[in-house]
Amino acid sequence: MDPKLEELKSRLQEANDIGAAGALLNWDQSTYMPPGGAAARARQSAILGRLAHEKLTDPAIGHLLDELRPLEESLPYDDDNASLIRVSRRQYERRTKVPAAFMGQFLSHSAETYTVWTQARPENNFALVQPYLEKTLDMSRRLADFFPGYEHIADPLIDFSDYGMKASTVRVVFAELREQLTPIVQAIAAQPPADDACLHRTFPQAQQTAFFEPVIRAFGYDFERGRCDVSPHPFTTGFSIGDVRITVRYKENDLSEALFSAMHEAGHAMYEQGCNPAYEALPIAGGTSSGVHESQSRLWENVVGRSRGFWTHYYPQLQAVFPAQLGDVPLDTFYRAINKVQPSLIRTDADEVTYNLHVMLRFDFELALLEGALAVRDLPEAWRARFKADLGIAPPDDRDGALQDVHWYGGLIGGAFQGYTLGNILSAQFYQCALDAHPEIPAEVAQGKFDTLHGWLKDNIYVHGSKYTAPELIERVTGGPLRVEPYIAYLRNKYGELYEL
Ligand code: ZN
Repeated sequence: MDPKLEELKSRLQEANDIGAAGALLNWDQSTYMPPGGAAARARQSAILGRLAHEKLTDPAIGHLLDELRPLEESLPYDDDNASLIRVSRRQYERRTKVPAAFMGQFLSHSAETYTVWTQARPENNFALVQPYLEKTLDMSRRLADFFPGYEHIADPLIDFSDYGMKASTVRVVFAELREQLTPIVQAIAAQPPADDACLHRTFPQAQQTAFFEPVIRAFGYDFERGRCDVSPHPFTTGFSIGDVRITVRYKENDLSEALFSAMHEAGHAMYEQGCNPAYEALPIAGGTSSGVHESQSRLWENVVGRSRGFWTHYYPQLQAVFPAQLGDVPLDTFYRAINKVQPSLIRTDADEVTYNLHVMLRFDFELALLEGALAVRDLPEAWRARFKADLGIAPPDDRDGALQDVHWYGGLIGGAFQGYTLGNILSAQFYQCALDAHPEIPAEVAQGKFDTLHGWLKDNIYVHGSKYTAPELIERVTGGPLRVEPYIAYLRNKYGELYEL
């Protein structure tokens, strides 16, 4: 192999391994570290982060990438080495275009804003954090300006999480979704809410685990290359293709909590576990964008895990684990309970249907803030008005309104939210393609068999890691661009039956 390519790979792998060691420290911090470890851990994480960044922005990598251009151009676009050089160049340019001094200022401003937000939210005091958020907005704009030539000022910021998705594309897709979704939400909201009391009996943690671990193992999550622990907020993290871990949070009075977050995180983790092993520790390993990542978690959590077919098979097993709690609850009641739709104030608690309205509102506000069409001081009022218009309810205070999500208060304004809804849309679009190739999938799911679906996802999505951008991958897999129709059809079909719409 080309010695320059060898050198590039070894430099990138070294940086990746330092980053992975840092990720392991973070995993430990969120799971097992005693509180006394906090101060030292912050220091240890910072030094590893700095070392990884120095290695990734070493000018030697820039030179190698220049020298490898002829090799890249001599290879087909989808060749692994050509893709490695292309993706590495994109990441290198992104990292080196922003001056280190600006990045340092931004990170320390974010840390400060986060601290103020942790006080402002419980106090319901938007005014306290407002000047910090104004500075965040200003710095987000300046960050975008390090990437000139954009069509919309949000585009460079969207690129950080969903590379290749533009504000204009997302705006069109979201407008279409919103137009079709709002009447469905209103029609459901006009009916009496489903009774989900059966999910709020007492479900001891050990039995919850005993039920869901075999489920995610059957999905295809490999416990030889992963494990499941407990943390305050569920997440997935990987240190290599052979070690991708998930966490859940238990609530003994809410069966949905750990069960569906285990399915969700297993969906993220299977994507990472299924990457081509030849990409180990290289920039083309791992998921390609936040939207595609979220499509994989949502597919297993919602399209499979909240389907009637799945529960036709698994409900008797769940009843056997919880005979006192669910023995008297018919399957239909349970199915309605796990698919209850009700307008609510908090995004993370929202159901599958209303969730997207929460996301679209935030996305539109990000664009309006960046454009200067909305001032930070007017955000709380704009939030209430839009919430009322879209969901028919309005938050009584800012705590459950404009102050509720950490994203803007611990990072950028721009690009923070669109991935959640892109993921929902893509989960249906990819699933439809899997069904076109394998019409037997729903019948298999109803027998607790997932090999065909998991195999299709692995061959068509997981294996490519981040070799292709999200738009490229969607084109390859579905034969066209991102489309909202399969998702709308999925919702109409499922909720039309549930609510007789
Ligand atoms: Zn997720």
